[in-house]
Amino acid sequence: MSQSMAAKHAIWPRKKDIIFNLSERAQRAEKNIGRENVINATIGALMDDYGRLITMETVYNEYKSIQNNDIAAYASLAGQPEYIEAVKKACFKEYMPEGHIRVVASPGGSGAIKLAVCNYTNPGDQILTSDWFWSPYVIISEEVGRKIDTYQLFDSSNNFNFESFKNKFLEISDKQERIFTIINTPAHNPTGYSVSDDEWDKILDLSKDVAKNKDKKIILFVDVAYIDFATKENSRAFFKKFSNLPENILVIVGFSMSKGFTAYGMRMGAAIGITSCENVAEEFHYSCVHSCRANWSNCNRGAMTLLSNIMKDSEKYKEYNEDKDRYKKMLSVRAKTFVEESEKIGLDILPYRDGFFVSIPCENPMEVCEELTKDNLYLVPLKMGLRFAVCAVSESKCKIAPRIIKNALEYIESK
Ligand code: PLP
Repeated sequence: MSQSMAAKHAIWPRKKDIIFNLSERAQRAEKNIGRENVINATIGALMDDYGRLITMETVYNEYKSIQNNDIAAYASLAGQPEYIEAVKKACFKEYMPEGHIRVVASPGGSGAIKLAVCNYTNPGDQILTSDWFWSPYVIISEEVGRKIDTYQLFDSSNNFNFESFKNKFLEISDKQERIFTIINTPAHNPTGYSVSDDEWDKILDLSKDVAKNKDKKIILFVDVAYIDFATKENSRAFFKKFSNLPENILVIVGFSMSKGFTAYGMRMGAAIGITSCENVAEEFHYSCVHSCRANWSNCNRGAMTLLSNIMKDSEKYKEYNEDKDRYKKMLSVRAKTFVEESEKIGLDILPYRDGFFVSIPCENPMEVCEELTKDNLYLVPLKMGLRFAVCAVSESKCKIAPRIIKNALEYIESK
């Protein structure tokens, strides 16, 4: 047996990241046969029609105007005070919930998930999320000895499956003191679904019902990584519903600058705790700050200054919004094209509302994915289907892709 040095808990299956692998293959194909002949729907970032990463001018002009010492200096562990205010404004806009709110800076939305999982679950606990989910939830949870359990996101009519949510929520609350649920909305990755206000009411009513047992601790982690690309007028209205909840319900919002500010590599985000109890809020602050110190110390100061500068200057904020809205519109057009074409030709897709991705349920996703590479279409296989990144594919390619996918599905089925 070959030498091994890693501690037992640190040894994981040696899988190559499948998304990066397919993305590499797509790029190779683009080089070999020309970009116009390849559909690369693997990338989880906004790309222009020529396959170049979109970077918002207003964001990067501002970043480059920041003084060196404001980039280089250490930052406060919890985040610079101005950043904390900027996060609240950028995240909630006019829908700030009432209650005690604390913001702790984190490296991206991923860091916020890590802070919440580590501090609000016990080793061995089950964490609840939907069966269509962003796979790093599992990696982050398993790394610290927690397990992901899932409910069915959609029922057979493709509506939000509240019954399944309720059953799993109650099942976990029967056996655990803590019920920690991750809800990625609006613009869910990978389906593009957004939980409606009525559905939020049901989720919160159920939580309040379980919270009548004061021994239970309910934590709702709301991952809003894609919120800036939600198109509904009042897509932030649900935040108001987190006001004045029972003291044993804590909402933690995972904020990220990655998508909304095209700042993926800057690694800046925040965990935002919302509670009706001041002690729970203070405890949130100190527990999370302890974890910051233990894991990454402080975060990217330049990125914090960047957000603060944009949010405190109404002219800059307005220009940033105009910049972002252009890309939001571009994304909507691409997604609408893909969805409408799928409907037209009878390709079954999951209910898309907003965001970077559309999902297509299928059997044998790996095999279908491989088949599609023969047509130079690259997307991401998931456990229960395929993820097509409309954020990275031009409108004209979004129009032809559904037919190619449908043909591949029919071919695999007929084999
Ligand atoms: N949550 C979801 C569902 C995501 O897809 C992502 C990024 O892809 C994140 C959170 C966090 O991203 P980051 O850590 O880059 O802010």
